[in-house]
Amino acid sequence: MTDLDSILSIKLAERDAKSQLRERLSLQSSQAHQVKIEDQSFLNFSSNDYLGLADSSETITAVKKQLDESGFGSGASHLVTGHHKIHDKLEVAVAEFLQRESAVTFSTGYMANLSILQSLAQKGDLIIADKLNHASLIDGVKLSDAQSSRYPHCDISVLETRLKKSAANKWVVTDSVFSMDGDIAPLDKIAGLCHKHKAYLIVDDAHGIGVLGQNGRGCVEHFGLSESELPILMGTFGKALGGFGAFVSGSEVLTSYLVQFARPYVYTTALPASVAAANLFNLERVINNPNKIAKLKQNIDYFKRQCKDKNIELLPSQTPIQPLWVGDSKKLITTNSKLKQAGILVGAIRPPTVPLNGDRLRITLTASHQFEQIDLLLEQLIKCS
Ligand SMILES: *Cc1c(COP(=O)(O)O)cnc(C)c1O
Repeated sequence: MTDLDSILSIKLAERDAKSQLRERLSLQSSQAHQVKIEDQSFLNFSSNDYLGLADSSETITAVKKQLDESGFGSGASHLVTGHHKIHDKLEVAVAEFLQRESAVTFSTGYMANLSILQSLAQKGDLIIADKLNHASLIDGVKLSDAQSSRYPHCDISVLETRLKKSAANKWVVTDSVFSMDGDIAPLDKIAGLCHKHKAYLIVDDAHGIGVLGQNGRGCVEHFGLSESELPILMGTFGKALGGFGAFVSGSEVLTSYLVQFARPYVYTTALPASVAAANLFNLERVINNPNKIAKLKQNIDYFKRQCKDKNIELLPSQTPIQPLWVGDSKKLITTNSKLKQAGILVGAIRPPTVPLNGDRLRITLTASHQFEQIDLLLEQLIKCS
């Protein structure tokens, strides 16, 4: 073992001792509400494929058609020759869907968030961020030259105090739906504060797009936020849209600026055209059949109602992300492996993804689940915890 390996082994052993070592499950099937791992079939309550679009046969056909036309690799960054007509089409469709002037696509949501914060917030500015923001927003703050401050989760009064106190150019950044808690930021109030105290609002709607609002237009539809109230809106294709990649939507000037100045946009290979085509196809499916969103909402309501009847105490959430707090990594791992033995997959979320003692089962519902499958989950949740 080299010196480096022994240093790294200590870190791994420390994490293992805390029952916080993660493992990767290797799927032998497509991503769906039922998956196969090690030749065993599982009911999947752990994916972010909320509308069940990730393995849709119509989408696969659309991708194959695009592959025939444009090949597989994009071969270069957007500013060299990696940008394809299909990216333009996708950007126009996203902007129209969100009733914004413009949109720009990114290879991942992680990079979109790095881009926003690195390129927009300047030295001398202040970024004010929710404490439970996604890791990519936290890392974006680190990458920018601005000062930063974190406010307690969704605490509007602390946010207002911080806004009042600073004379700097200010940015407020928050998730819309918090990825590990499933709760929704009070964006109407936050947007009001930003207007009152002259701050720019940045929202990560990764778990809101395709989920919130009757038409799945996300937080913009849920709260009725215009482009001037919410000028910088980020979303992803990898969650409810069942694809891969991300976008930022806002004014034409904003997206032109990002294309020029966002380093994680400029210096990376473009999303392959076939992936962009799949994203566009799935976006159109969401626009044309709101019944999937309605089915998702029925499943969420059914699950919450059944939990209430059975005295299963969930954290407060009206979204597909339904966390069941456990508070101890060892106990969580035991419960999770019992569920796995019973053929149920849920997320076992431990620090550092959540704060210390924030260990939880992260149950996610999709439009593809049937009530009987949710019943099976409930039965096993009672047996195993
Ligand atoms: C998944 C996620 C991201 C990252 O998006 P990717 O496209 O997976 O890189 C960013 N923000 C939030 C809130 C997310 O849940």
